Amino acid sequence: METVLKNYDLGKLNIVTIASHSSLQILRGIKRYGLGTVAVAKPGLGWFYRRFSFIDRVIEVDLSNLEQLANDLVKDNSILIPHGSYVEYVGWRRALSMPIPTFGNRYLIEWEADQRKKMRLLEYAGIPIPKSFNEPALVDRPVIVKLSGAKGGRGYFIAKDAADLASKLSGVNVGDDYIIQEYVIGVPAYYHYFGSKVYDRVELFGMDLRYESNVDGRTFNLTEPTFVVVGNIPVVLRESLLPIVQKYGEDFSRAVSELVPPGMIGPYSLESIIKDDLSIVVFEFSGRIVAGTNVYMGVGSPYSVLYFNEPMDMGERIAHEIVNAAKMGKLSEVLT
Ligand code: AMP
Repeated sequence: METVLKNYDLGKLNIVTIASHSSLQILRGIKRYGLGTVAVAKPGLGWFYRRFSFIDRVIEVDLSNLEQLANDLVKDNSILIPHGSYVEYVGWRRALSMPIPTFGNRYLIEWEADQRKKMRLLEYAGIPIPKSFNEPALVDRPVIVKLSGAKGGRGYFIAKDAADLASKLSGVNVGDDYIIQEYVIGVPAYYHYFGSKVYDRVELFGMDLRYESNVDGRTFNLTEPTFVVVGNIPVVLRESLLPIVQKYGEDFSRAVSELVPPGMIGPYSLESIIKDDLSIVVFEFSGRIVAGTNVYMGVGSPYSVLYFNEPMDMGERIAHEIVNAAKMGKLSEVLT
């Protein structure tokens, strides 16, 4: 990456992302800071992204050829912004070796892909996580079973006790890998952080709720709950919760610095349940931008004004970091 970057004309940077997830927010923010913008769309999707004047170039390509395109884009001083759809489409192995400088810590993608490694990292950070059960017979409370490879909450199921679990596990294919986790009772809340190399700090940038089918649908107990994300809803928390949310964000960043060098760079998220005693249990992290940040696209997050004079959304925050890191000669510190 360092060698590639040496040949870059920093006055002509192009920012590339996959046309999905949070790409509109990212590319709009990038354009406001005067950089070039490229959307890489799956065949048939380009027409939608061509509707927006802040996207300089829309390239339609089968993502099985992304490596070849990445090699070409590097000749145009390009930086890739990864997001959830990128990770889902290319998988962690290809993401690790994608031949293009990538904003953030790409090595985290591997940790994120493995439920056990993921929980280990949160545990190492000292953040409260749900209890795990290795032995179904030892389950003594409601649990959620997460099949590995489940996407967007599809492939999860809930069991109310050990007997319910045993009957539901009998429907799972032998050889499927899964984890059994305490189902934490409370309200969900998802926190957006930004790990800044320019300012050497962790910013608590915003938060959201997910709108999930069928847990949020009008299902009247007619069906089993599923957690397929269909959208996001903005939320602000009572201020007394903010110090602990900030602390967990910083604890996570510190753990990543120790276990996954070069540490936390740019946007990331912790996903939690807040219990009725106001304690917070974190069941998941994302080491890159989450789609929940779209709730403040264009208007800025309410928390961004605590750090900057103007409200900023996450696309603008990423642009701000890239532009200022480049000015300070630190661009290589925000890329992997
Ligand atoms: P995920 O795909 O891991 O983000 O999880 C999908 C949804 O499942 C989340 O939005 C939560 O509502 C729910 N969930 C996941 N793990 C737990 C847990 N341990 N306790 C309660 N709810 C959970």
